[in-house]
Amino acid sequence: MKNLDVILGKENLDFEDIQQLLSLEEPEEIELLRRKAFEVKQENVGPKIYLRGLIEFSNYCINDCYYCGIRKSNSSVKRYWLDEDEVVECARYAINKGYGSIVLQSGERRDQRFIDFVCRTVERIKSETRSEKLPDGAGITLCVGEQSYSTYKRFFEAGAHRYLLRIETSNPELFAKIHPESVSFARRLECLYFLKDIGFQVGTGVMIGLPGQTIEDLARDILFFKEIDADMIGMGPYIVHKQTPMAEYEEYFRKNKYKIYLLSLKMIAVTRLALKDVNIASTTALQALYPFGREEGFRFGANVVMPLLTPGQYRREYVLYEGKPCIDEFTNDCGECLIRRITNLGMELGLNEWGDSLHFRKRKSEK
Ligand code: SAH
Repeated sequence: MKNLDVILGKENLDFEDIQQLLSLEEPEEIELLRRKAFEVKQENVGPKIYLRGLIEFSNYCINDCYYCGIRKSNSSVKRYWLDEDEVVECARYAINKGYGSIVLQSGERRDQRFIDFVCRTVERIKSETRSEKLPDGAGITLCVGEQSYSTYKRFFEAGAHRYLLRIETSNPELFAKIHPESVSFARRLECLYFLKDIGFQVGTGVMIGLPGQTIEDLARDILFFKEIDADMIGMGPYIVHKQTPMAEYEEYFRKNKYKIYLLSLKMIAVTRLALKDVNIASTTALQALYPFGREEGFRFGANVVMPLLTPGQYRREYVLYEGKPCIDEFTNDCGECLIRRITNLGMELGLNEWGDSLHFRKRKSEK
């Protein structure tokens, strides 16, 4: 591309620029994009990669999203629920290892028992992980879907301070194609505003390579992240799961696998260029497509990673997509392997710190 240098030199990327960058195909051009994104990451959020121990505490789900392996209609999944002690134990383990923060993720439920469980567990983790190194205890991120304003507020008051809720795609028509009617785009958006209003550091993201999704859609996704002023971004390739209504796309997926992988890396890089000081995760799904996918994510501008801490015996039941790595039942901690992978890249780890989004801190201090 003739004007690649000009675009990469811009302070603010417009819609056209974003589309052009996402369309890059030449390896040399993609390398220029990667280098620029990495440079912008170093300048804006520093050299460290932060760890969040991921605890998938339950796969019970009331939703029936067409792409997801743990959708409620998938009767081949054995449903599980870790008890409070098990979750707290995983969290303490993570903090002892120096991970600094944890993510509690599950299928979606909105009943009182579930809400009370989350609040109590968060409170306990907060009080039982305080140490000299982390006087305020673990940094806690929740990823438990759409809830009411008052539930989010309870979660926040219990001590969670970050929340991940992907918009999945910012194109409402595409959103409607991959969700049942009971899951609405408008509601998802409203939840993101609730979370911001309450004071959470808010993370969102999309799936990349959905059937029917265009480069234009993805460019709009990046503008959407900017518009809602997200603090954290977690996105990754869409990967077919056989026991879902979207299994018919297996052939499409197989044929486009490399393209989708590359597109995911380009999305990380361009999001870094457009949003600069947010935290961006290098997600597990990237590694499902390519063994070193997560490492590549860091090289393309990501600065957060979520080592899986779900106890081994449950991992096979939390498979949202095919080929999920690290579901070997004899493993309880993926952190050590990830830490080795990160140090092998010559990158620095942010141990024993929360590694909050700098964007959030700036947003707060400007108020
Ligand atoms: N129920 C919670 C968290 C679990 S799902 C929630 O909805 O937030 C977490 C994310 O996994 C989803 O937001 C979705 O983007 C991703 N996901 C689900 N199925 C997937 C698939 N087949 N391929 C790639 N990502 C998928």
